[in-house]
Amino acid sequence: MAKERLVVIGNGMAGCRTLEEVIKRDPDRYAITIFGAEPRLNYDRIMLSPVLSGEKAFADIVLNDSDWYDRNVVALHTGRPVRRIDREAKVVFAEDGLQVGYDKLILAVGSDPIRLPLPGAELDGVVTFRDLDDVNAMIAAADAGGRAVVIGGGLLGLEAAYGLARRGMKATVVHLMDVLMERQLDTAAGHLLCEALAEKGVTTILGADSEAILGAKGRVKGLKLKDGRVIPCTLLVMAVGIRPNRALAQAAELKTFRGVVVDDHMRTSDPAIFAVGECVEHRGAVYGLVAPIWEMCRALADALTDEDGPGYAGSVSSTRLKVSGVDVFSAGRFSGVEGGEDLVFRDAARGVYKRLILKNGKVEGAVLFGDATDGQWYFDLIRGGEDIAERRDCLIFGQAVTESLAGMDPSSAVAAMADTQEICGCNGICKGQIVGAITAGGLSGLDDVRAVTKASASCGSCTPLVEQLLKLTLGDGFKVQTGPKPMCKCTHRPHAEVRARIVDDSLMSMPAVMQALEWTTPDGCSSCRPALNFYLLCAWPGVYVDDAQSRFVNERVHANIQKDGTYSVVPRMWGGMTSPKELRAIADVAEKFAIPAVKVTGGQRIDLLGVKKDDLPGVWADLNAAGMVSGHAYAKGLRTVKTCVGTDWCRFGTQDSTGLGIKLEKFLWGSWTPAKVKLAVSGCPRNCAEATCKDIGVICVDSGYEIHIGGAAGLEIKGTVVLTRVASEAEAMAIIAAVIQFYREDAWYLERIHKWMGRVGLAGIAAAVVDDTMNRQALYDRFVISQATAQTDPWAARAMGGVQAGEFAPMATIPLGMAAE
Ligand SMILES: Cc1cc2nc3c(=O)[nH]c(=O)nc-3n(C[C@H](O)[C@H](O)[C@H](O)COP(=O)(O)OP(=O)(O)OC[C@H]3O[C@@H](n4cnc5c(N)ncnc54)[C@H](O)[C@@H]3O)c2cc1C
Repeated sequence: MAKERLVVIGNGMAGCRTLEEVIKRDPDRYAITIFGAEPRLNYDRIMLSPVLSGEKAFADIVLNDSDWYDRNVVALHTGRPVRRIDREAKVVFAEDGLQVGYDKLILAVGSDPIRLPLPGAELDGVVTFRDLDDVNAMIAAADAGGRAVVIGGGLLGLEAAYGLARRGMKATVVHLMDVLMERQLDTAAGHLLCEALAEKGVTTILGADSEAILGAKGRVKGLKLKDGRVIPCTLLVMAVGIRPNRALAQAAELKTFRGVVVDDHMRTSDPAIFAVGECVEHRGAVYGLVAPIWEMCRALADALTDEDGPGYAGSVSSTRLKVSGVDVFSAGRFSGVEGGEDLVFRDAARGVYKRLILKNGKVEGAVLFGDATDGQWYFDLIRGGEDIAERRDCLIFGQAVTESLAGMDPSSAVAAMADTQEICGCNGICKGQIVGAITAGGLSGLDDVRAVTKASASCGSCTPLVEQLLKLTLGDGFKVQTGPKPMCKCTHRPHAEVRARIVDDSLMSMPAVMQALEWTTPDGCSSCRPALNFYLLCAWPGVYVDDAQSRFVNERVHANIQKDGTYSVVPRMWGGMTSPKELRAIADVAEKFAIPAVKVTGGQRIDLLGVKKDDLPGVWADLNAAGMVSGHAYAKGLRTVKTCVGTDWCRFGTQDSTGLGIKLEKFLWGSWTPAKVKLAVSGCPRNCAEATCKDIGVICVDSGYEIHIGGAAGLEIKGTVVLTRVASEAEAMAIIAAVIQFYREDAWYLERIHKWMGRVGLAGIAAAVVDDTMNRQALYDRFVISQATAQTDPWAARAMGGVQAGEFAPMATIPLGMAAE
């Protein structure tokens, strides 16, 4: 019998979660198609804030990878918005003309961010905060420096401002009301929040009404307030609320009001069409948080699989701000509670404020600032409508105190929780689901629970509760992870152990590693595969064959993928030097392939932006013909060696910094490293090449070369420290090659040099490459071998042109008697 056709419009959080729930209940019932307007897989939208702040990468927040769609036979159409529903014919029409018929249709189209109709709202640099494109636009603006103004002091606005401040912008939040997050916080907590944000570099202006966005040459340059003040900015984020996306439903003449109107089983006014998530209006309420949405998804899955569920009855919500180091939680009602009484706790020294609102012996609302550990517990008391009259005296001190005064051991509080009580608010996971997964799936650790149930996998604030559940269920079988973190969820072994075992046990392929080290997944994951590929390459040069598929996309295609799906190509210019011939070749390529943007990078190179994927081979070939290579410019490998003009041109130059930079770049280029490596050589202590914020820097001085290490100038800003001083160029190159080889062999994958140095210590590095001359020679020799056997894929080989990686190895044996200080 043909399967029923289920079509979902909206590949977001609600659409995919509904499918997961349906598939869990009845995997074979439907032939499923899902349309997404965004050109990407389903991701955890609430984690866009940590992506903006740089605390997570996009890859970390993907919820369902392409394997998931394949495994569950879900036909996915990304980047294809549905534009029309023909209810009579039961067909949906995508923007590009694709038509798909349905028996049942789900609208899961989320919300639109509100754009204030201010003069200037159409200027470049005015963005909202809803999807990855918005985040990428904000990151690009932050990379260019400058000031950001965020209109809206709600959860989203504050997370946006915090993220931008972390990326180095001066961020100002302009809020209409006198209290930040006024729908979740009272005046006292709002005030504390202003102070905490100021410490994080975010300025707040309260009671401020916006009048107009000012611009110049089509780009935002400031925000004018109604009181006449002007706040200059290069980026303006509107975070003033959301509106359920009703357009499609309205055009199909479904019943809509604030959102798409649904009953308790998420059915719209058409019995074949359901709606779920932020786009719906249920019993007059619309929602903008995930916890209620998970409840809706379960109710809808029940309805779609004929399960006799209770349906959806509406939700009480709680809110938690995702700003590192600022603990804010609120739930229930805290204003306008007639006859309500307040319990307030303040600890000024610790910056803690807690307020509970009680009525008729029950908790109605909670506002917590500075210590939100008990947020979930209070939330459960609110939702459960529990009688707290007996516990009122100690309630404000939290769960542990309350339970122990009542003679309970704290873990028995978790034991006493009902199976239906929610543990993870972000993912809507209850105690019963976690315990069930632990017992049924033989789970033994936090990462297992995260992988199987998603509990604790988002904001992480429920981690202590999940650990208590593991302890409760497994008893002594559960040990809280205290040692080094496992490499990824596929293994309990940390990076150091995996690296050591690869060498000690002569493990020479990925399957061999996974078998010997008892990987829990058949093929690893997107975290461990690139790491293992690097560890194997490093351990077995010339033997292990590089697995291009285990590399990140930029490394695979030797070009940097851009937000619009085009690529950027940065031809190498050794040491930052170029010539009329190279410049002509770059100009010709840009014209021939209609490359829309040509830009000078911070690393003294020329970036060709907007290259179409199909044009990449042609671009490389033409650059190649002019002797230019492009491979590895985006890799976990040597990026660039920046130089100043040195003795050739500069009156102050003490050494040939350009010449040394060119030699270093040609020597070091092409060898994979755990993370990107940037170098610079300055010809004198005036340091025009900014060598003291690079992974490795050289400052030339009259007596020779000062070698610096451990700088960073990205999300983290770090000045270098001096590793040693040497008298000759050859010694400088030998020391640097030995340091890089030590880093290659010792650092964990994705660990930048400054982080690695934090672990190993400057003294540890100096001991290995400066003091121990034999070891230095051995490291150097291994580096030369790795260069000689550097493997690349066919495109990179083509991109390499005439220059072989490591071609400029300065010597076979390095001088042992260097003037190290
Ligand atoms: C930055 C940020 C931080 C947040 N933080 C939190 C938090 O801490 N806690 C919390 O509970 N909630 C938070 N939220 C809210 C939460 O992300 C939303 O409640 C949730 O994503 C709503 O799920 P949804 O599926 O209804 O909508 P979405 O996740 O937006 O999914 C809807 C999808 O439908 C697509 N779509 C729209 N129209 C069409 C069409 N015609 N055809 C095809 N596809 C279409 C959209 O492109 C989108 O991908 C946050 C939201 C943002 C933006």
